Amino acid sequence: MTDLTTLTAKQAADAIGTGDLDATELFEAYRAKATADDLNAYTWVAEAAPARAGNGSAPAPLAGVPLAVKDLFCTAGVPSQAGSRILEGYLPPYTATVVDQLAAAGAPLLAKTNQDEFAMGSSNENSGYGPTLNPWDRTRIPGGSSGGSSAAVASGSAPWALGTDTGGSIRQPAAMTGIVGLKPTYGSVSRYGMIAFASSLDQAGPLTRDVTDAALLYGQMTGRDPRDSTSLQHPDAIALPSGDRLDGIVLGVPDTLTGEGVEPGVFARFEETLKLAESLGATIRRVSLPHTEYGISAYYVIAPAEASSNLARFDGVRYGRRVEADDLVSMYTRTRHDGFGDEVKRRIMLGTYALSSGYYDAFYGKAQRVRTKIAEDYKNAFADVDLIVTPTAPNVAWELGAKSADPLAMYLEDLFTVPISLAGLPAISIPNGLSDNLPVGFQIAGPAFSENAILGAAYALEQAIGFDATPGRV
Ligand code: GLN
Repeated sequence: MTDLTTLTAKQAADAIGTGDLDATELFEAYRAKATADDLNAYTWVAEAAPARAGNGSAPAPLAGVPLAVKDLFCTAGVPSQAGSRILEGYLPPYTATVVDQLAAAGAPLLAKTNQDEFAMGSSNENSGYGPTLNPWDRTRIPGGSSGGSSAAVASGSAPWALGTDTGGSIRQPAAMTGIVGLKPTYGSVSRYGMIAFASSLDQAGPLTRDVTDAALLYGQMTGRDPRDSTSLQHPDAIALPSGDRLDGIVLGVPDTLTGEGVEPGVFARFEETLKLAESLGATIRRVSLPHTEYGISAYYVIAPAEASSNLARFDGVRYGRRVEADDLVSMYTRTRHDGFGDEVKRRIMLGTYALSSGYYDAFYGKAQRVRTKIAEDYKNAFADVDLIVTPTAPNVAWELGAKSADPLAMYLEDLFTVPISLAGLPAISIPNGLSDNLPVGFQIAGPAFSENAILGAAYALEQAIGFDATPGRV
């Protein structure tokens, strides 16, 4: 019998729709694989297929194709720990809106995936539950912070997965593992029930085997949620992409992108993909984004500032772990001391400092002004070009431990993803080849709510690139 888990989510959904595939059988095939996973990609796997998964009388749009979900999405009665020991064993009484929405659309919960603690990181090494390994090379990181989701999809133990992206955490792990990751327009997906990192940046999105699956999943995720005041209705229905040409499309390349600071193999793949885009009819034009060079500096003030506020709620009183002590302040202190990892503590300290009286204007206020400038840069650039393209990350997946002692080296990893997040814009990462036998990602960003245009261009390029997403095929 053929291995059901080799089908893309769309292929599986279609086969269930025609009656050629049984949704419960598909769920069981993935459940077996996820249970046997040895990459430490999962923090929890379902014990059984849901009753009549997706085989109801009216076929649901996602037809019963199971979904893996990053640990930080609250799921009622299922451990939701955001990769942190401080939430060890926490069972939320409710489910995140987007997970509910997808279950209603026919994608039942298969598993929860490992992640960097509170989504802080680019390698998954900051998880309180141990690092996740990259299926292309087990001595390397799978990217982060949605590295459990990327490893799960890339290794074929989940058909697709949800991640979250605050400064690159969907796109970068997708790039590191040879899959597709879409970071949607800020606000187009509800954040209700996502354990917060930096609320003005956090956004959920799909990690999938191909662009079609990303469009299919994202199309069921959008919508205004009365429980998230920053959510709003997407003006477009999300279409499944189909065209294989890029005629008339102008792709912008930042004028500062010269190859400096980018691994040669990654830059070579980028230039090849630009040529390919031209052969499909696209025009390439240089664009000026003068303030994006301050993106990392602004992000690493704003994100820790918001995190320090969001994480104040973990004090041993309400959720998860408590370390008992003789008095209240000692109980708070010991709980936070034992429960949080080093990177989380670093950011709480940075953020608290940046928000403190007397420093607020110099740090947080200034970073917010830089953020506005960056958003204006993109607005101006999109008057000249349709989409902006860069490598997703400056290098391929690195060896476990290689950057752990140097947080700044890790932060530089976000060079190409963070400015887009600060501007609230959508972007996708698609695999565009290998460097040193490891996957490379190509990032396509667009104006707010341009997901259909981004997915369309990504699809045309995907067909032309013909990347084989099977890890270890080389
Ligand atoms: N690497 C970035 C950080 O550590 C982005 C993380 C994210 O997008 N969640 O903050």
